[in-house]
Amino acid sequence: MPLVSSKDVLLKARAEGYAVGAFNLNNMEMAQAIVQAAEEEQSPVIIQASQGAIKYAGLEMICAMARVLADASSVPVVLHLDHGTDYKQNVKCLRAGFTSLMFDGHELPLEQNIAMTAKIVDIAHSVGLPVEAEIGSVLTIEGLLSDAEMAEIRALEVPKQFEILRKKIGPRVEAHIARPEEAKRFVDETGVDFLAAAVGSVHGLWLDIWPLRVDRLKEIYDAVQIPIVSHGSSGVLISKAHAEAKGVELLPGEGSLKDAIKVGYTKINVATALSMEFNRAMLEAAAKRPGEKDPRKLLDPARKAVVAKTKEYIRLFESNGKGGGATCAAKGEVAGSQEIKRGEE
Ligand SMILES: [Zn+2]
Repeated sequence: MPLVSSKDVLLKARAEGYAVGAFNLNNMEMAQAIVQAAEEEQSPVIIQASQGAIKYAGLEMICAMARVLADASSVPVVLHLDHGTDYKQNVKCLRAGFTSLMFDGHELPLEQNIAMTAKIVDIAHSVGLPVEAEIGSVLTIEGLLSDAEMAEIRALEVPKQFEILRKKIGPRVEAHIARPEEAKRFVDETGVDFLAAAVGSVHGLWLDIWPLRVDRLKEIYDAVQIPIVSHGSSGVLISKAHAEAKGVELLPGEGSLKDAIKVGYTKINVATALSMEFNRAMLEAAAKRPGEKDPRKLLDPARKAVVAKTKEYIRLFESNGKGGGATCAAKGEVAGSQEIKRGEE
């Protein structure tokens, strides 16, 4: 079916109490893998492109890939701009065929963030496109720790990694959490459709060990009553059981991704975890086939690994079976997903 609006997908998800994954693509293989996973799980899906991905692949190429994949798919597929940082980028994406926009003005003073978000919402709504905007700051791990500090922490056992991270970055992350009264004002004055409200996650964490301030998320959702978007989800604890297994002790008010979906998280962005999985499988294939001449022999295992990882997230968010599409889309029907056979090279 043609690309759909994120509003159609997310309002239904909120009403029915599940979340929809918004997966970042960096190349053709990842885009195919994400849509194939959604197809196999019969789930709605959001594929999103950051400005970095748009620069890498080209705006027209991103749109064309998304359009072709959506048209061939039986489940709803959305093409979303992730972290659009200015007005022009949003207008370019609107014109190119994106079906969902984002303005990230979190670095601006609140007044300016409100004014620019409202301007983008105005033009987007005039052609029926929804807009996500950010309040509070979801910080990036690279901005919080040096490469040397990260390498040192990553070499430790998981519980120790968490203990040190909590001490080193916890207070700064906490200081950037969104406030419910500001969130309410922001939504009222901008008319934005979905709110990326910082509630303690961090972009780019290498391991899913970080807790969310679920108490604050609930207060924000209760104040604004629109779907809340999760950024930095790759590094967030999946469930309470998962926290226990990893030796992470939750403080009062803290919770996991599962807890957060119950109280307002509706669009869950996953970028780092898929990129890491893609690279892991590609490098593993390269190590097994030294001197390989055909890039497809390295990229196809990476694509398959991303399909599997995306399916895990879809089931975690409980959007599987919610795609409402035909059931005829059998495994492997997405173009390009077949094995490369001898003689086809
Ligand atoms: Zn983000």
